[in-house]
Amino acid sequence: MKTALITGITGQDGYFLSKLLLSKGYEVHGLVRRNSQMSYGTLRSLDEETFKKIKIHWGDVTDHTVVVKLINDVKFDEIYHLAAQSFVALSFTNPQVTYETNIGGTLNVVNAVKEFSPKTRLYFAATSELYGKAQTKPQNEATPFYPRSPYGVSKLAGFWTVKNYREAYDLFMCSGILFNHESEMRGEEFVTKKIVKGAIDVSRGKREFFEIGNLNARRDWGYADDYVEGMWTMLQQPAPDDFVLATGENHSIRDFVDMAFKRLKIELSWEGEGVNEIGKNKADGRVLVKVNPEFFRPSEVEDLIGDASKAKSVLGWSSKVGFEELVNKMVDYELGAI
Ligand code: NDP
Ligand code: GDP
Repeated sequence: MKTALITGITGQDGYFLSKLLLSKGYEVHGLVRRNSQMSYGTLRSLDEETFKKIKIHWGDVTDHTVVVKLINDVKFDEIYHLAAQSFVALSFTNPQVTYETNIGGTLNVVNAVKEFSPKTRLYFAATSELYGKAQTKPQNEATPFYPRSPYGVSKLAGFWTVKNYREAYDLFMCSGILFNHESEMRGEEFVTKKIVKGAIDVSRGKREFFEIGNLNARRDWGYADDYVEGMWTMLQQPAPDDFVLATGENHSIRDFVDMAFKRLKIELSWEGEGVNEIGKNKADGRVLVKVNPEFFRPSEVEDLIGDASKAKSVLGWSSKVGFEELVNKMVDYELGAI
């Protein structure tokens, strides 16, 4: 039986990756940091039988002692290093914890592999935020990086650390440069989940309106379950490499808002510009969406769109769930869950 460690197992991708690896017969281990509620994050949404199959190890990825002991003890076949301070907005106000987790934590993991388990295959969760102020369009593995946030900078350090360890010490380490991927399990502060919850609340009269930041930013949004398949496939190749995973299509935040309301059978009309823009219910003129500059970022990533043709030709991977289906899945889940 193959063994795999997932750091960041309690997050969105950890949920889907755990299910995928268990379905493939892996013994799945997860590194989980303690919190006062002893909460298992997204893993609480797994059925009890599936959850019980996961071997939980308590520890923070920044704790060198914990990481070394775990990797030395088990010598996993594969490690999926997903643990990160993953929220861009928070990285501006909490840059230190972002660097410590995303750079220091990554160094702990790759170095423990080098020293104690060099046959382990490692996946590192890189991101389209590396492209930031994108220099060309669409972005692929050859596009120059230009991160725009402490999060982006920290992930760039992680990306280069992984590449350097791979080249210097002949280790099987890959980075997936994943464009935004969402799902029912997405954290609540990310814009997609926030929109879905806001639109449902408004449609049910729980709130008059909800507030949002930059409506013009564009993202290449895929479905997380498709993307974890790509992570696994990278580690099954004859040689380690880095791959972009993306849908090749992008949409604005405004498009996402429109699509979420459409699922709720509400058509919006937009008026005004910038901070004065509002989204109104076309049927009765009520204002349902307002812009609040509190949600603007000090430096923004305006337009990301990925080119995953290398993943398609080498890995045989492509994204399956399209934009409308993604939004509908998220809305339908939330309608049932509330
Ligand atoms: P989430 O934010 O949902 O999950 C992050 C995970 O990391 C959580 O399990 C969290 O634990 C854990 N974590 C954070 N800090 C620590 C720490 N110090 N020690 C141990 N664990 C820690 O992210 P996603 O699942 O969406 O993403 C997975 C990875 O992929 C992340 O690295 C993210 O940056 C990257 N990525 C994500 C993209 C996306 O669109 N989703 C796009 C590209 C890259 P806890 O539950 O305790 O908070
Ligand atoms: P990111 O791509 O990793 O930063 O994912 P997010 O979901 O946090 O943000 C995606 C885009 O939505 C960014 O360009 C944000 O500026 C924009 N955005 C607009 N309004 C909001 C908001 O209220 N919350 C968040 N999180 N993002 C917003």
